[in-house]
Amino acid sequence: MDDSGYLMGGAAFLLMIPLVIIAMMMLGLDEHMASCTAEAAASSSVKRAAEDLKDNIPIITREVLNESAYRVINGDECPDIRENIQERLDRICSGYLNLNASCTVNSVESSSNDPFQVEVNATIRITEGNTGHLENVSERVSVEGLPDPLPFRVLGKLQHNSTTVDYGDKLSNHLNSCGVRGDLYINATGPFIIRRCPYEPYDCHGHDGVLINCLLNGYYHESHDGACYLCRLQGRASCPHPGLETFIIPGVCASSGPVSADHVLFTEPYEGDPVNCSGFILYLDGGHKLKYGLIP
Ligand SMILES: [Zn+2]
Ligand SMILES: [Zn+2]
Repeated sequence: MDDSGYLMGGAAFLLMIPLVIIAMMMLGLDEHMASCTAEAAASSSVKRAAEDLKDNIPIITREVLNESAYRVINGDECPDIRENIQERLDRICSGYLNLNASCTVNSVESSSNDPFQVEVNATIRITEGNTGHLENVSERVSVEGLPDPLPFRVLGKLQHNSTTVDYGDKLSNHLNSCGVRGDLYINATGPFIIRRCPYEPYDCHGHDGVLINCLLNGYYHESHDGACYLCRLQGRASCPHPGLETFIIPGVCASSGPVSADHVLFTEPYEGDPVNCSGFILYLDGGHKLKYGLIP
């Protein structure tokens, strides 16, 4: 090889160095990008699973509450609400491929500031490779539209259609056994479905047409004396949680009678005065008259 040959070889070698460097960089970059994409994919599937679980908690809770209420209405025991929700969430978790997911239901309780809502507190844990997600969530579930299991827990089997419970002689017998005039509540009627009374503040029930609309629609009201939905499922007509009350319309008019609020009739009934509402009679005590603006 002559001098020019060496020169050419040397130049070619020098030229190759940056090429090799560029190639190495590109390979490295590629590898880095590949791992980034994998991580992003992992974190997005973890995120999706967490969102999915969060979305499912209220749906499942409502299903469990509804099914439990109908079991009670049909004379069965109330199943364990928390356990039932947990089982269904476990089933969803085991369906995630390549993910290790769990959603632990820590508590199911009546909402502290809205008795028309139940609050579910849960902890979501998901891992995939090195990616992890831990989140405590609190989901609120409305009980509006669900059937009220309480009358069935207190009195046993009752006739009802999709909106109204027909008490026949069941409530009347119960009241007689409590030592108050049950005969006034023969063929009494009350609501079957929990619906929030839209007439607020409640003392506007004294205005023309309001109370009659409230009664015809079978609305429920917030009440510290009435029971929350979860306690209604357990057959407790009164509880320490913020609760609900509704009216049960007696069948007979008299000069006084057991107060027509459900929690009064189902716990320790006491007497009130008749309040005539477009032909319907309610018996109310001073406290309830004041609450609903029915003091003349
Ligand atoms: Zn009302
Ligand atoms: Zn309660």
